[in-house]
Amino acid sequence: ESLFGDKAEGPLPLSKDVMSGDTSTAPKKVDLLIVGAGLSGAVLAERCSKELGMTSLIIDSRDHIGGNCYDYIESHGLRASKYGAHLFHTNFERVWEYVTQFSEWEPFDHRVKGLVPDKDGVKQLVPIPPTMETVNTLFRTSIQTEEQMAEWYAQNRVMPAGYTKAPELPGVSELANSEEAALSRVGPELYDKIFKHYTKKQWDKYPSELDASVMLRLPCRTTTDDRYFGDKWQALPKRGYTRIFENMLLHDPNITIRLNCDFFQLRDAGKLPEHGLIIYTGPIDSYFAQQGMPKLEYRSIIFKEEWVEEPQDGFFQEAMVVNYPSPDVEFTRIVEYKHVINQPTAVKNGQIKGTLLAKEFSSATGDPYYPVPNPKNNELYEKYRKLAEAEPGVAFVGRLASYKYFNMDQAILNALEMFDNLKETGKLEPKR
Ligand code: UDP
Repeated sequence: ESLFGDKAEGPLPLSKDVMSGDTSTAPKKVDLLIVGAGLSGAVLAERCSKELGMTSLIIDSRDHIGGNCYDYIESHGLRASKYGAHLFHTNFERVWEYVTQFSEWEPFDHRVKGLVPDKDGVKQLVPIPPTMETVNTLFRTSIQTEEQMAEWYAQNRVMPAGYTKAPELPGVSELANSEEAALSRVGPELYDKIFKHYTKKQWDKYPSELDASVMLRLPCRTTTDDRYFGDKWQALPKRGYTRIFENMLLHDPNITIRLNCDFFQLRDAGKLPEHGLIIYTGPIDSYFAQQGMPKLEYRSIIFKEEWVEEPQDGFFQEAMVVNYPSPDVEFTRIVEYKHVINQPTAVKNGQIKGTLLAKEFSSATGDPYYPVPNPKNNELYEKYRKLAEAEPGVAFVGRLASYKYFNMDQAILNALEMFDNLKETGKLEPKR
């Protein structure tokens, strides 16, 4: 009851101490110092406490918990995500069992549309990843069966040497880059319409300059299935992602949180408590900034929010996410939060007439969101990884510290496996 019972729709208020930016009111001695209150930090704090009774202090430079998963109720009453749409999907049973401990979930199949010029240059709203409907609408074909769709792909795709069928993960390593991945799955016409320019906008690189893994994140189907993901479990937390973090962290006396705290400033000012292992989840190159090595490349997103007062039929667009893959528009996609099923009751009941949009503009500067997977960056990351390996008393975990384009479920699995590993190697002995 205490975990799921409270009826608040949005984030719970945090205490003055938590918000203070001051570690002097935190315990003077903890087993773990955790840098970052995102998925990786939260999972490790929770596991170490529940299974081993270990104490931790989590610090984060932001003014909220939840990392980039943070969602909240915006001024009109809609649930919105501060750092863009987060759609949970997983095939890992361990992850699904773990996350369902901290929230009720509502099944939600994510569907994405793209506004794409057809062969005559007229913009059409079509499913992404491409389906029969996408091909029929853009190229005026009349494909009706899976066999015909397979045939269309067979005629269009350009295979790299050694491939007889469209590449899927795993097997990525043999594909030189994301251009090869896309061409060998969908051929040059769909590649140009849907992937090439979107990728340039998102990464400021063409697919040929990125690892194949970036493109292989999306499924490629011959069916009419127009879901964005094919995973076994696809759902949204009933009261938002932030509530999950609250349920993991706030009711546990072993866990102390201090927000508005910069790790490096506190460390350099000698203001960290006495601690055992450090769990560092920030960018790995920031941790080793004093080594004078080149910085790793990350992409950020600038969200331009817009409130639309009275959209027709209550919505601005047909789907939660509409992609704009053509180069004539600067942004990559528009997210309309009202479409998700875990909106507060007032929204579900139609009491809120307006709708909130977030236009996403990709950016080289700003908070790092995405590592940029390509050979040059991977090579530089390897150098950082070696430094990390040799750094005593610190575990580097998560998307930014591992420089890996993790989905939420992969980040959770990675943190759970890190926990197993630290436990097995005796690095998680309570010191109190
Ligand atoms: N992508 C694309 N066109 C689309 C959707 C995706 O070219 O309409 C490419 C693009 O390079 C993008 C990558 O596929 O960065 C991965 O897409 P995903 O939706 O997984 O990106 P995320 O949600 O992580 O931003």
